[in-house]
Amino acid sequence: MEQTSITTMIKNLFTQPNLWGSILPLQLLGFWTLYNIVTSTAPGWWAIATVCGYICIMMLGISACYHRLLSHKGFTVSRPVKILMIWFAAISGQGSPIWWIALHRGYHHRHSDKDEDPHSPIHGFWHSYILWMFKIPTKDLNPRYVVDLLRDKDVVFFHTHYYKILWISHALVAFISFDFWLYSMLFPAFITLHSYGIQTSFNHIKFMGYKTYTTSDNSVNSVWLWPFILGEAWHNNHHGQPGNPNYGNRKWWELDPTYWLIWLIKK
Ligand SMILES: [Zn+2]
Ligand SMILES: [Zn+2]
Repeated sequence: MEQTSITTMIKNLFTQPNLWGSILPLQLLGFWTLYNIVTSTAPGWWAIATVCGYICIMMLGISACYHRLLSHKGFTVSRPVKILMIWFAAISGQGSPIWWIALHRGYHHRHSDKDEDPHSPIHGFWHSYILWMFKIPTKDLNPRYVVDLLRDKDVVFFHTHYYKILWISHALVAFISFDFWLYSMLFPAFITLHSYGIQTSFNHIKFMGYKTYTTSDNSVNSVWLWPFILGEAWHNNHHGQPGNPNYGNRKWWELDPTYWLIWLIKK
């Protein structure tokens, strides 16, 4: 995927509101929330609220739903559970399901660590961590990578009304309880973006871990990333077997709590 200059990125801020419009405000508010936590002005229950929010938004939303369920068809769930999981992913602010999955399937997996890979560290660390998100015009994505999802009316609904769903959800929860919103929804969404950034960058740098599968990309499994991104740390296992919803278990230490949640849902 073509590298974009800083001038084009700034131009995108005004002409292409997609991720600028969600990530910038959520990140700024996220840093402010972090400041409240560090200066002990957060309520005593913030940690419990954040862990619960992280389980819903990062683990059930981005990791289980956008990634393992919709991108790779690794398992199936009932329609109400699917809708709830898409909502958890959508409120993270990382983009509509169609956008996220077209990029992931059509560009990241098809061209891992090649020029067309939108977030490979071969284009630079900060590019792969976060800057890539602001460089990709939605119109440039090829819809043939998401033909199956374009037939799913729930996914199309979340895609079409993405920004309305995102902001109305955040506004409603904030209106009910500002603190509850801050620590159970906004702050977990902020952490989720950084978890994903750690995955797209560190997990594709060869010396950050080991390979269990011989893949043509630089993906690795990283023990030291586990405390930060849990089962997503076993990223080479995922590239080796993309359709397998369990990223762990190839080695005894490879624990994947997101898969445990998927297992529980399926029970
Ligand atoms: Zn994947
Ligand atoms: Zn990858």
